Amino acid sequence: MNVTSIGQIDLPALFPELTQPQADRLRGAGDELDRLGHPVAWDWHPDHGLAESPTLHDGIDLIVVSATVNLFETMSDGLDLELVVSREDEWRLTVTATIEVACWCLEDHGVHVVHTVSWLVGTTDVLVDSFETAVRTMMTWVDGSHDPAMWRSRAGLPNPAAE
Ligand SMILES: [Zn+2]
Repeated sequence: MNVTSIGQIDLPALFPELTQPQADRLRGAGDELDRLGHPVAWDWHPDHGLAESPTLHDGIDLIVVSATVNLFETMSDGLDLELVVSREDEWRLTVTATIEVACWCLEDHGVHVVHTVSWLVGTTDVLVDSFETAVRTMMTWVDGSHDPAMWRSRAGLPNPAAE
């Protein structure tokens, strides 16, 4: 389900073991992304939450909740930051923060991940800590360069993005 702020996401439905203070911390971290002044798109999947038992496949992470922050966008270029909580297996989650740029190299079509940081999560406590750390990490990226060409160069990708 696509929404425009973390306040529209039913966090206890996704993570039933969240205490109220933990839910408040998750929401507070998400609010920081929403207050950046850049476009933010949230997506959440109640059927992938920890109250459910979705069918899990090796190598395919089920997205529980994600946020995409758009820092730069033109007709042919772009730079996004993404925060994803995905379901690793029955009880484990992964929190991932990535930097993605427009790129049309042979490996990828359209979007190329140039930087990833991730945290494996087995408890609600660690989920909340990791989510906050991911948001803090993204804030340092927001303070850095918003030039996709710089990130493509650092990753050894072709410039400009479009042929
Ligand atoms: Zn690429």
